[in-house]
Amino acid sequence: MVSRQLLASGGAWIDLHGTQILVDPGPGCLVHAINKKLDPSRLDAIILSHKHLDHSGDINVMIEAMTAGGTRKRGLVFAPGDALNQDPVILHYIRSYPLQIEVLVEGGTYQVNDISFTTPIRHQHSVETYGFVFRSPYHTFSWITDTKYFEGLASHYTGEVLILNVAMLDSKVPSHYLMTLPLDHLSLADAGRLVELIKPRVAILTHFGMKIWRAGPRVLAERMSGEKGIQVIAASDGMTFDFLQLENKK
Ligand SMILES: [Zn+2]
Repeated sequence: MVSRQLLASGGAWIDLHGTQILVDPGPGCLVHAINKKLDPSRLDAIILSHKHLDHSGDINVMIEAMTAGGTRKRGLVFAPGDALNQDPVILHYIRSYPLQIEVLVEGGTYQVNDISFTTPIRHQHSVETYGFVFRSPYHTFSWITDTKYFEGLASHYTGEVLILNVAMLDSKVPSHYLMTLPLDHLSLADAGRLVELIKPRVAILTHFGMKIWRAGPRVLAERMSGEKGIQVIAASDGMTFDFLQLENKK
């Protein structure tokens, strides 16, 4: 999906009452941000869930853009240790540009202005990976990033909105695959189970693999909505989700 850019892979830009946080700047992030008139020099933080290239491809250029090419020391960067140490994806020469680079650990709590976030549990993925629970003065929401489904996963995440990386339509790996990497991801059924257990007000599905894309993410999300009785949205390129829509529904 990424190498053919059937769907964009630039990550998510979160604006929480003026605090600007970029999560997982994959390939194309800078170009898409500029096209959408999002100003990287206003970013307060860049958070990396894990170092796989579909999440980290543009991390260096986004750190440069956040710091005006390294001329203004500003902004925070958060990444797992293995994104910095073994086979690092964050270049050494760039590490002095942000105010601070913080290493994500299991059970960690981090702060960006008045927004806090936690990385409650290390995910089961081929590299060190964390999901997030974000808390602003007004909202709590979670993002379950790449992981294999495991017992107890749901108990670590909470909030009104739940974002889920759902790469697989089912758990079958095509026989021509050279690796079992797809098994490291949530399937649609796994996502349904998590939505049922966590019971957010809105679930947003993203990070689709080819089979999901072919089946039609919107159709699948609508079906899940009907089955679970919870609003489920399939993310699409350039989609905006407004937290105000939750307040209007109260
Ligand atoms: Zn991954």
